[in-house]
Amino acid sequence: MGFIDSHMHTIFLHYSALEELAKNDYEAVVTLAYLPVPFSSPESLKDHFNHLVYEKTRLRRVGITALVGIGLHPRCIPKRLEIEKFLGVIEEFITVADVIGEIGLHVMNDLEVNVLRSQLKIAREHDKPAIIHTPRGKNKIKAIKLTLKIIKDVGISPELIVIDHVSTNPEILNILSREKVYIGFTIQVGKASVDDVIYAIKTHPQLSERILLNSDAGNEPSDYLSVAKTFEKLCEVIGRNVAYHCAIYNARIFFRI
Ligand SMILES: [Zn+2]
Repeated sequence: MGFIDSHMHTIFLHYSALEELAKNDYEAVVTLAYLPVPFSSPESLKDHFNHLVYEKTRLRRVGITALVGIGLHPRCIPKRLEIEKFLGVIEEFITVADVIGEIGLHVMNDLEVNVLRSQLKIAREHDKPAIIHTPRGKNKIKAIKLTLKIIKDVGISPELIVIDHVSTNPEILNILSREKVYIGFTIQVGKASVDDVIYAIKTHPQLSERILLNSDAGNEPSDYLSVAKTFEKLCEVIGRNVAYHCAIYNARIFFRI
């Protein structure tokens, strides 16, 4: 039973990186929709989703299962185009997708809120897990609160949701410890460190049943082996059982693999 990275963008990774993941006992990775530019047409979104589906074949060659996420990341939302047509593409690909994501709020304007709401409705109707981005800095708390409100409005089960890129801000940990959503820790410079995960588990032990680790490896500086490295450190500091939950078991339950 190997590691699961719950949030990656493997289309940016070289084949040798995939081979290294396999050598380091990775069993599955979740590869999510995202381009660092907005989509200019529904057709370009379709091409992106087809590319993501192709990642299943590329990962299979190294012996890793790829779970594919489709969706409109807040930074990819086209500004002046008919959003319904883009949502139609998500509906079209929903049966081949394993996950809706990466979706969420970034600047938190009305357009982002409406697009998140619509995508969560699609996830609810098709019983798909959803991975939700949160922005950096002081907007994170505001985005998490608004996201939780939208989740409740839409009526999707919180057990289908990952609130991702969580930090160890005490207010955030307190809010999330009262919810049933899963919590994504992205082990990447500027997002979270192994020490942050240790702090979160020590202060809120119940969270260890709902933490998912990820690298968010893609087009930004990141360490695609960070889940394996975090597992080793958690084994040393907190113990193998908790490490196993965060790096493998919780993801198996959440993604039903
Ligand atoms: Zn991401």
